[in-house]
Amino acid sequence: MRDGRKSIFAATPESLADWFRARGQPSYRVQQVCEWLYARHVLSFEEMTNLPATLREALAEDYQVSPLREVERLCSADGRTVKLAFEIAGGARIESVLMRGGRRPTFCVSSQAGCAMGCRFCATGAAGLSRNLSMGEVIGQVVALACAAGEVGNIVMMGMGEPLVNLDAVLPALDAMADPARFGLGARRITLSTAGITPGIRRLATARVQPNLALSVNSPFDRQRTELMPINGRYPLAGVLEACRGYAQRSGRRMLLEYVLLGGVNTSQKAARALASMARRLHAMVNLIAYNPVTGCEYKTPEDSETRQFRATLEQAGVAVTQRFRRGRDIKAACGQLAGRPSAEH
Ligand code: SF4
Repeated sequence: MRDGRKSIFAATPESLADWFRARGQPSYRVQQVCEWLYARHVLSFEEMTNLPATLREALAEDYQVSPLREVERLCSADGRTVKLAFEIAGGARIESVLMRGGRRPTFCVSSQAGCAMGCRFCATGAAGLSRNLSMGEVIGQVVALACAAGEVGNIVMMGMGEPLVNLDAVLPALDAMADPARFGLGARRITLSTAGITPGIRRLATARVQPNLALSVNSPFDRQRTELMPINGRYPLAGVLEACRGYAQRSGRRMLLEYVLLGGVNTSQKAARALASMARRLHAMVNLIAYNPVTGCEYKTPEDSETRQFRATLEQAGVAVTQRFRRGRDIKAACGQLAGRPSAEH
């Protein structure tokens, strides 16, 4: 909310129906507005040309379209990754990333401005938390990315922030993504990544929309994991994994375990074997991500041989492994690099 008006992205079709009804308007107006917003991705009421001008003016008095102001757009040298930076109310900056390649583009969306989790290998964590994003600010990113891509991609909530500590905004945003009257994405096209917030995982298991859930593991050993991810001190692995097992059972979705390989730190064979046994117990897949350098962090990208060996150990244990490519490193849009700072400061 930049100027006191609510974002229309935060309005449900039901609340819009009430708004139109109160003005003596037919119910099909809701469908018209939703089509402009979620299928055509327009960012102003003036462009909604099948609505009478007086109605467009009335909408603009009560609502703004996007609560985000785009302040920077960077494209990687290969043209496949685009990073959008937005200023939000209060002046903080957030970032979202469009990745092309594959059948559909992928949209990496932020849930908070900054992050309080303090993971040692992450630029967002190093900057601390400014504030939670509202539902309209989450959806505003999806619409802006859809505008840039020309279509709605798969959504991964893996940008800045920990989505499971902002569920009051994230759950209605998931509803909007899955709602046939809005984006109409199947829940399988949405993935939420968490550092392991046990109560948040349990709450997600009772939500209306249950996306794919990715747990950022990064060490299968509590002691090392707490060093890398301080939140593990509050929610140790055993409880987190138990909640993940409950989520997988309830949602019928296969868990994804994410593992950032930090050269010489968490790449031992012992770690690979422990991760394999964790994955097998959960029937989870593992996604390996070679660490992307972050200014001010002492970790190194692993040697290729280190990554190969780690992966081979998992595969020999029968675990399905995928590896995320180091996309967008040149524009600091790769995993763990979103800092919310202007590009000149990185
Ligand atoms: S890795 Fe995720 S949870 Fe950890 S500090 Fe970065 S944004 Fe926060």
